Amino acid sequence: MSTENLNPFEIVQQQICTAGQCLALDPAIEEILKEPKRVLMVTFSVKMDDGTAKVFKGIRSQHNDAIGPCKGGVRFHPDVTLDEVKALSMWMTFKCGVVGLPYGGGKGGVICNPKELSQGELERISRAYIEAIASIIGPDKDIPAPDVYTNSQIMAWMMDTFSRLKGSNQFGVVTGKPIIVGGSLGRNEATAQGCVFVITKAAEKLGLPLEGATVAIQGYGNAGSVAAVLLNKMGCNVVAVSDSCGAIYNPAGIELEVLYQHKRDSGSCINLPGCERISNEELLELPVDILVPAALENQITAKNAEQIKAKIVAEAANGPTTPEADRILFAKGITVIPDILANAGGVTVSYFEWVQNLMNYYWSEQEVNDKLQTIMYNAFDNVYAASQQHQVDLRTAAFIVSINRVAEAIKVRGHV
Ligand code: NAD
Repeated sequence: MSTENLNPFEIVQQQICTAGQCLALDPAIEEILKEPKRVLMVTFSVKMDDGTAKVFKGIRSQHNDAIGPCKGGVRFHPDVTLDEVKALSMWMTFKCGVVGLPYGGGKGGVICNPKELSQGELERISRAYIEAIASIIGPDKDIPAPDVYTNSQIMAWMMDTFSRLKGSNQFGVVTGKPIIVGGSLGRNEATAQGCVFVITKAAEKLGLPLEGATVAIQGYGNAGSVAAVLLNKMGCNVVAVSDSCGAIYNPAGIELEVLYQHKRDSGSCINLPGCERISNEELLELPVDILVPAALENQITAKNAEQIKAKIVAEAANGPTTPEADRILFAKGITVIPDILANAGGVTVSYFEWVQNLMNYYWSEQEVNDKLQTIMYNAFDNVYAASQQHQVDLRTAAFIVSINRVAEAIKVRGHV
């Protein structure tokens, strides 16, 4: 059966089945894992700048809390759907599981278009949403964080609203906050840093020297641009990057300092002098050693997977590869570092932020990065060992490692 047209919820259910088969998973546990434990849908009204009241809908999905409180971002987007939020909360459980964090998965969303909202309206929506879901969140229940179109300012408003409701500061209720109100050093770079740590491990396994390795990065935003700089520092040659306006390619390598200024001044990567303009599709098919999809879902599909030439695909983005494309890449011998491992650096440093909030004792950036490296290296080794043991791709192996952990907690707690 073709899996190309499945929605994210159906895809994650299928990923659970695939890993479940390798593990001979107890059918009751599989059934538990295939649905969120709790989903809250809320409707709230917000006073807009023109004095009218507008009604918004929000969702919070808590997939599993057998290992610890739920954890996951909140996205503000007009296309937020229930199935999407449910799926994202499930991936969060497995992301936390694969790096061994004491968390389960959660995710939230508000159907709105931040591009059409003033700062005041955004603030009122953020506060109203948190008030509406306050009974099911908290530092020991469920800890939201930023996601698409939400940022550290929004996290500050959310934390403040929850604190007011409780009558005391509750810094640990959300992560991704500004440093002055309990944010962690290293959080902004964490996703890319974690991704680079696992790329280093994968390259080692393949005998691919990073010095001189060529890199293409799709999506030059937070995750992609920081990954480019970090890989460059390790000796890699970043030859192509892209954003929503298009892609650029220079086989001799792109000067990242110059690119930084060009993007800052012009708002995009395109038209950087000395680079060839190519399409986003062409970028994916370039003859490079390392490809980092860091933009959107469903970029590597059954249509273009045959044409991918990279030796390593490191999924900084969530869900860039469809299940059908996964099979093609595996058959071609391409190492795909799956999203739940490759971009888990973000939630790992969110976890560090929460730990620092609970202790009220803050770490240096070096401490954060050292701890992140230990966790990412261990996670890669565990996933790699599972892939060898079960003779499966790294994605299935990551699910195996993660599901094993969650299943053990479910069993030992006597939930089945
Ligand atoms: P971002 O908004 O900072 O960057 C996204 C980039 O992708 C932008 O440069 C945008 O122009 C570009 N883009 C959009 N459409 C594109 C297209 N069609 N082709 C090429 N580029 C396109 O977002 P981000 O925080 O860097 O997140 C990127 C991905 O990484 C998302 O999938 C996100 O879920 C995932 N991720 C991010 C974090 C994090 O901490 N930032 C953590 C985990 C996962």
